[in-house]
Amino acid sequence: MPRIEITLSQIRDNARMLCELYGQKGISLMGVSKAVLGEPAIIEAMIQGGVKFIADSRLETIQKMRNAGLSAQFVLLRTALSQAEAVVKSVDISLNTEIETLKQLSYYAKIHHQEHQIILMVELGDLREGILPEDLSQLVRETLALSHITLVGIGCNLACYGGVKPDSRNMHELSKLAQRIEKEFQITLEIVSGGNSANYNWYESTQNIGKVNNLRLGESILLGCETVGRKAIPGLYTSAFQVVAEVIESKRKPSLPWGEIGQDAFGNVPYFRDRGVCQRAIIALGRQDMLISGLRSNSRLEILGSSSDHIILDGHHYDLQVGDEVNFGLDYGGLLAAMTSPFIRKQFVNGT
Ligand SMILES: *Cc1c(COP(=O)(O)O)cnc(C)c1O
Repeated sequence: MPRIEITLSQIRDNARMLCELYGQKGISLMGVSKAVLGEPAIIEAMIQGGVKFIADSRLETIQKMRNAGLSAQFVLLRTALSQAEAVVKSVDISLNTEIETLKQLSYYAKIHHQEHQIILMVELGDLREGILPEDLSQLVRETLALSHITLVGIGCNLACYGGVKPDSRNMHELSKLAQRIEKEFQITLEIVSGGNSANYNWYESTQNIGKVNNLRLGESILLGCETVGRKAIPGLYTSAFQVVAEVIESKRKPSLPWGEIGQDAFGNVPYFRDRGVCQRAIIALGRQDMLISGLRSNSRLEILGSSSDHIILDGHHYDLQVGDEVNFGLDYGGLLAAMTSPFIRKQFVNGT
C-alpha cells in the first residue's frame, strides 16, 4: 500500500519559525488544518510550534479535532446558515459575511446560553467571500445589535479565486476599514486578519503593516512556501510530507506503443515521443489513489504517464528493482489528495 510519511518535527519547527517571523511585528497566526483534514498529530505539532488558533473550513473537522482533545481556539473559515446550531456548539470564532447567518448564530447561541464570536470578512478584490467595503458599516451596525454575537474582528482573503496579490494597497485598505469601524462604533477590533500564505511577500516588503495583526496559514506551515510564486520561505522545511510507493515492475521496453492507437483508459488519444528502448519502472500508485499532477519528483525521476492503478517512470538514471521504494514530494493539491485518499496510509515519523 502506498503511504504518506509525515515528519511532525518539521511541521512543528515551521510553525515555530513562522510564529517568530510574523510575531516580530505583532502578527498572531491561525494554523489552517483543512489540507490535512485536521489530523490530530499534525495539528498538535502546529500547536507545539506556538499557534494559538486552529482554523478549518469544515465543521466536521473541527469537531474531530475537539474530540481528539486538542486545545486551541477553533475558528470556522466557511459558515453555512444550515449549520448555525452546530457552529455555536463546537466553534469559538466563525468567519461571516451574511446577516441571515449571523441572526441564526445569535438565535442558537442564546438557546445554548453562549456568546458566539465572529469575524466579518471584507471583499478586497479577489471575489471570493466578503462584504463590499461600502456595505461594511451597515453590517457592523446590524451585527452589534444581535444579542449573543461578539464582533471580534474583520478580515480578508486574497489570492484564492481571483489570484489577487496581497499588497500595500489592499492591506492599507483593510487597516483603514478597521480604523473607521473602531471610530464609528467606539469599539476595539481585537483581530484584523490580513490573509493567508500569500501574504508573505507583502509582509517582507512592507514598512508598515498598519492594523493587520493576524494571518491564517496552512500551506506555509505544512509545505514551507508562500503561495504567490510558490517559493520556499528561507529556513522552513519544504518536504515534511513524502509519498512513498513500491516498484512492481522494472523492464527495458520500447517507448512507442505498437498496434493501432485508439483511446486510452481515460478517453484521451495518447501521443508518444520515441526515445528508443528505455528502462521503465512501474509503481503501485495510480489515479484512484492520488492526484498524479500533485506529485513532485525529488530527483531526476520522470513520470511518463499514469493510469488508475499505475505510474510509469523513466528509470533511465536509476537502477530501480522490483520491491524498491520511490519517494515524491507534494504540492498543495497533492497533499490534499494524499491526505483524503483511503488508499494511502498515513505514517508519522519524528525526524530530528
Ligand atoms: C484555506 C484558507 C486559508 C489558508 O490558506 P493557505 O494558502 O493554505 O495559507 C486561509 N483563509 C481562508 C479563509 C481559507 O479558506
